[in-house]
Amino acid sequence: MQQIIAANWKMFKNATEARSMISELSKELNGKIPENRKVIIFPPFTVLEASFEAGKEIDGLCIGAQDVFPAQEGAYTGEISPQMVKDCGATWALTGHSERRHVIGESDTLVAQKTSFALASGLDVIVCIGETLEQREAGELYDVLARQLHAALVKLPTPLNPECIVIAYEPVWAIGTGKTASTYDIIEAHAIIREHLKNIIGVSVFETRILYGGSVKPENASEILSLDNVDGLLVGGASLKADSFAKILLA
Ligand code: PEP
Repeated sequence: MQQIIAANWKMFKNATEARSMISELSKELNGKIPENRKVIIFPPFTVLEASFEAGKEIDGLCIGAQDVFPAQEGAYTGEISPQMVKDCGATWALTGHSERRHVIGESDTLVAQKTSFALASGLDVIVCIGETLEQREAGELYDVLARQLHAALVKLPTPLNPECIVIAYEPVWAIGTGKTASTYDIIEAHAIIREHLKNIIGVSVFETRILYGGSVKPENASEILSLDNVDGLLVGGASLKADSFAKILLA
């Protein structure tokens, strides 16, 4: 199975910057993604279509939305539906990113609704989970991961292809801080997640990929990718520049 290397551009880049980053990335990769990797870029909504068009230069590049609302249309001012992002070329969605949980205040219930609605609408989904520093220091790692995972995956549409749902373990204290989790921390958290996925997904659990995210850089990507139960990376800051993102996805 291919490892996933995903780029979360957060609230950065206008259309010109998105096109030029993707064109530079294409040059770095000679227009081709390594066969053992799947690459997904999550731009802001406003540049989804420009990124999708520019991304045609890179064989196999996928585009995703950083969020979706759990309804196809309606009186939801400011929200964007799965069908709308699909119309712009997106085939993936992110749900439950820690900035949405902790800055915007999204609940486990809303993350679950977004996840199941996006999947039922034909998008593949990366669900983000992870503990805060306070929770880790209070010894709550196991409980927080179990709660977020079971809550987010409570209503998966059936039948479900287990490859369409991906979990990103992103310790909140490691996102955008320059502090990467240790290899021990990553192995421990990913093993907990795999154990819970067994109960939720069943026998095909190894077809569900678990990504690590949190201050991934060209210097630490290859070591993290070699760890047990790590099936890819979700990259924020280091995905904004073509040369550093190319180094990570070629690691
Ligand atoms: C993220 O935004 O999901 C992320 C992991 O950010 P960073 O790589 O900058 O820590």
